[in-house]
Amino acid sequence: MERMNQSDFGERQKVLVIEDERDIRELVRVSLAGEGFSTIEAGDGDLGIALARRERPVAVILDLMLPGISGLEVCRRLRAEEGTASIPVVMVTARTGEADKIVGLEIGADDYVTKPFSPRELAARVKAVLRRSYGRVAERPHEAYDRGGLRVDLDSYEVYVDDKRVELSLREFELLRFFVTHPNRVYDRGQLLELVWGPETYVEPRTVDVHIRRLRRHIERDDSSPEWIVTVRGVGYMFDERRFR
Ligand code: CA
Repeated sequence: MERMNQSDFGERQKVLVIEDERDIRELVRVSLAGEGFSTIEAGDGDLGIALARRERPVAVILDLMLPGISGLEVCRRLRAEEGTASIPVVMVTARTGEADKIVGLEIGADDYVTKPFSPRELAARVKAVLRRSYGRVAERPHEAYDRGGLRVDLDSYEVYVDDKRVELSLREFELLRFFVTHPNRVYDRGQLLELVWGPETYVEPRTVDVHIRRLRRHIERDDSSPEWIVTVRGVGYMFDERRFR
């Protein structure tokens, strides 16, 4: 059975916590739950970036000292990508060094807290960056993919093929959103499951094939000879827009 993620539709606002220490993630989760936020959690930067892309949290709480890629690098990458650039980031640093804070703010963090922090302080910082970011979000035009007769509005979830609206399920939309934001690269079923369904998903790999088939029916002009979502035999699927280069 497929688990649908309903949180995009007006439930609690999601905050992404990227932090390797479980105790601190727990503290953050409890602090923010008290203020009406839900949290999604990542123990390292790579997963954190993948979740930010996929879940579009309202804010990211980002530990500076992470295993693998550092918090500063995570922040830089979030800022560099169109889909995640406007998500407010609150840096968490164990160090009291001013240099880290300044570097963090220079590369685009919106605020920072220093460990140890109180739950109340953290929640207040998150609410403050959200207030400041609302203006930014309102001014931002809708993000859309628009090529070759395919138009995907990434904010309103509307999809048009040759100016005709097509109705996708949430999961089909998420799959399409992933494809249009990651074109011209082959992904195998396992990667698509992890990146679109999420790391803790328990569906069979052929679920991917079923969704690809449905998505093709919606967006391809001839789904027996797909132009957008091509099968790369023995490997997986690729969203192909190379013909527009
Ligand atoms: Ca840490």
